[in-house]
Amino acid sequence: MSHFASVEMTPGDPILGLTEAFVADPRPGKVNLGVGIYYDESGRIPVLRAVRQVEEALAKESLPRGYLPIDGLPAYTQATQKLVFGPESPLLAAGRVATSQTIGGSGALRVGAELLKKALPNAKVAISSPSWENHRVVFNAAGFEVVDYAYYDAATHGVNFPGMLADLNKLEPGTVVLLHACCHNPTGVDLSAEQWKQVVAVVKDRKLLPFIDMAYQGFDKGIDEDATAVRLFAASGIESFVVANSYSKSFSLYGERVGALSIVGATRDEALRVQSLVKRIIRSIYSSPATHGGALVAGVLNSAELRALWEQELTEMRERIHAMRAGMVEKLATHGASQFSFIQKQAGMFSYSGLNKAQVDRLREEHAIYAIGTGRICVAALNRNNLDNVVAAVAAVIR
Ligand code: PLP
Repeated sequence: MSHFASVEMTPGDPILGLTEAFVADPRPGKVNLGVGIYYDESGRIPVLRAVRQVEEALAKESLPRGYLPIDGLPAYTQATQKLVFGPESPLLAAGRVATSQTIGGSGALRVGAELLKKALPNAKVAISSPSWENHRVVFNAAGFEVVDYAYYDAATHGVNFPGMLADLNKLEPGTVVLLHACCHNPTGVDLSAEQWKQVVAVVKDRKLLPFIDMAYQGFDKGIDEDATAVRLFAASGIESFVVANSYSKSFSLYGERVGALSIVGATRDEALRVQSLVKRIIRSIYSSPATHGGALVAGVLNSAELRALWEQELTEMRERIHAMRAGMVEKLATHGASQFSFIQKQAGMFSYSGLNKAQVDRLREEHAIYAIGTGRICVAALNRNNLDNVVAAVAAVIR
């Protein structure tokens, strides 16, 4: 008898399941709005020109493939710190930030969760309602109880800010609060700088531990603007906090798994002690990160010329998404559906469209347009070729 006979079938990821169904769909003109990927105007995942230049140089050099240090390539982690905290950050100057290269933003979240479980074994973790589904999964897997705080307000298609503040105010001191820095996934609704200031004040007052997830830096307003939350926490006098960031989207390097975990400690000494524990955790899970993606990001960020090119390409991606939001709203209005103007106010790749499960089912069955049951759509999967069809289909299913 097999030792695995007792293993039952585990439900798959609903989003990946949707993609499988999409791929198998023979209908021409099908569109997958269920993904979490930026596609360019021709419907492809772009290879950024800045990345390609580094890749070509690396291919010519054909370097040996030794192991990276446990916490990654120093050129990568140092450049990451400047991008996330700002080049002039007093925290960096004081040596209070310990950064490790991780296996994507997901790896940063999981390694960060393992660290927090050791530092704060009895804490709870609070995530937004709703949040990226994997947040709950990752923190549960690290042994945490996960609770929700109010976030999305379906009635206004915006943030339920009074509800959010009220819920944060009820959390026990030492609770970990997972916050989306920008481009909230799945809703697309973000806090204003003024609201962030209020959140920082509550977090400080309640002695909560902020864990900021920044997976879309540069996808809404720009590199520094999108890091407003990180910069405000850094300036707040709060002694310790955590940032997970990802380059999957901003460098279009999804499969290279490039992310980083930064821990802010009260002092340089504390940051060093925490980093020694982070390294022990990484060693016990995957030993050290992968070389290629890290070298690509470091190569771009450490060259003034390539960095400028990358920023230009990031701006192009961001502006294309904004154009698709504007186009969708405008075209829906010409179909008499003027209630979607909120889509233009949302940020990042996603929009909680307000479509319900039955409407999403009809989009798929009648129009070969795939979206998630919650109504989340990936605006970055729209382009000038599919926009008219998508809009006509949405207008048809809401009638
Ligand atoms: N955090 C959020 C909010 C995300 O949306 C994602 C990716 O979809 C991640 C983290 C993980 O990023 P990565 O693909 O780099 O693991």
